[in-house]
Amino acid sequence: MINVSPKCIGCNKCVPVCPFAAIQLIDKKAVINEACTLCGACVQVCPVQAIEISREETATRDLGGYKGVWVFVELVEDRAVGGAAKEGGQPAHAKQGRKIRPVTFELLSIGRKLADQLGEELCAVLLTDKNYGYEKDLGAYGADKVYLVENPELYEYNTDIFSTAIVALTHKHKPSIMLYGATIMGRDLAPRVASSLYTGLTADCTALAIKDGQLLQSRPAFGGNIMADILSPRSRPQMSTVRPNVMKLSDPIYGKIAVTVREDIKIDKGLRRVKVLERKLEKADAGVKLDEARVIVSGGRGMKTKERFKHLEELCRLLGGVVGASRGAVDMGLKDKTHQVGQSGTTVSPKLYLSFGISGAVQHIVGMKASDVIVAVNNDPDAPIFNVAKYGIVGDAHEIAPKLIEALKKRKP
Ligand SMILES: Cc1cc2nc3c(=O)[nH]c(=O)nc-3n(C[C@H](O)[C@H](O)[C@H](O)COP(=O)(O)OP(=O)(O)OC[C@H]3O[C@@H](n4cnc5c(N)ncnc54)[C@H](O)[C@@H]3O)c2cc1C
Repeated sequence: MINVSPKCIGCNKCVPVCPFAAIQLIDKKAVINEACTLCGACVQVCPVQAIEISREETATRDLGGYKGVWVFVELVEDRAVGGAAKEGGQPAHAKQGRKIRPVTFELLSIGRKLADQLGEELCAVLLTDKNYGYEKDLGAYGADKVYLVENPELYEYNTDIFSTAIVALTHKHKPSIMLYGATIMGRDLAPRVASSLYTGLTADCTALAIKDGQLLQSRPAFGGNIMADILSPRSRPQMSTVRPNVMKLSDPIYGKIAVTVREDIKIDKGLRRVKVLERKLEKADAGVKLDEARVIVSGGRGMKTKERFKHLEELCRLLGGVVGASRGAVDMGLKDKTHQVGQSGTTVSPKLYLSFGISGAVQHIVGMKASDVIVAVNNDPDAPIFNVAKYGIVGDAHEIAPKLIEALKKRKP
């Protein structure tokens, strides 16, 4: 419920920020009509705290009306996505505008499965200054519908503006599940939306499933030593963030286009509390692009010295890949932290992951188990890395890496 207390001074600040034109000034007092969706935009701008929203106790909420799986569509500058887009990446038409970040397609892939199990729709939520035919890609990865909000204010990501628009859409359509990429944007946006909706949020999920009609959210807990399964039985929507490369990408079906539903949400500049003064884009080739690599050659503590680690760098160069490392190797100073794969490093899903002298601790596995083919070299036949490897070589990494280099060199013209 929303109430305007007698403290209201009739300053008119709340009227223009309401996305649904639900506030009028009558006799110098703000009056809220039935178009209000409880998005809270007016509460944020009221200088005298005269507007109050009281929330229903979660136990008394009617959850039956919440239906559908939503995926937030993240758009980024072309160069921020990087040149090494995955197979099934984006066709040429998306080049005119910003690109859809690949994690969106991963979320749609898992979202499709969840929606099918629930017998509900999969919807993409797209906030943009201009639509460049994004519904083609979104449909190809499984979306039935795209809720599109088009407004020049949505060119640049802004926490207040984006969260207000999503909260308004959520109040209107009542989705049961909402998924976000655990990216810089998703990690900023999802908590804001969750707190405005008075619902929970499970961050960095590594698996999502349906159990008794509810979203079962799994994520590592206690430093990755256990997997926690989390349910939200008393609140909706059920909200999760998922890191890039965790969910398997489904094969796109081009030709299946999502239905676009245009949403007319008024967005007022007054909501914007942060002004971007300058934007600097990283050069596409700067830094280590582990998350986009198709081949990764990783080394662990078993590599022992920087000198020996160089074998892996050479092997990697011959295979056209990127060098990865376990935290053990990083702690020993064999590689710097930007190369670390795992829970506190980068989550990867290359076609080929070659691991040398890595034991396979759960915190490492969680960051690479989505790789298509894992080849592990370890001198301990009981090393846990062999549980996830497709091909396991029991032997000395310092002998096997040079032999592989030799064999590859012979094959090169
Ligand atoms: C909160 C938290 C977050 C973490 N995040 C991460 C993370 O993001 N990434 C990560 O990797 N770890 C992470 N860790 C650390 C993790 O628990 C392990 O300690 C780490 O992965 C071990 O690295 P390692 O496998 O290289 O070393 P070890 O566990 O020491 O294993 C070395 C392996 O090399 C093998 N070996 C030795 N010599 C040879 C040889 N000559 N030839 C072949 N094999 C050989 C050994 O048999 C052994 O299996 C995290 C831990 C915590 C608590």
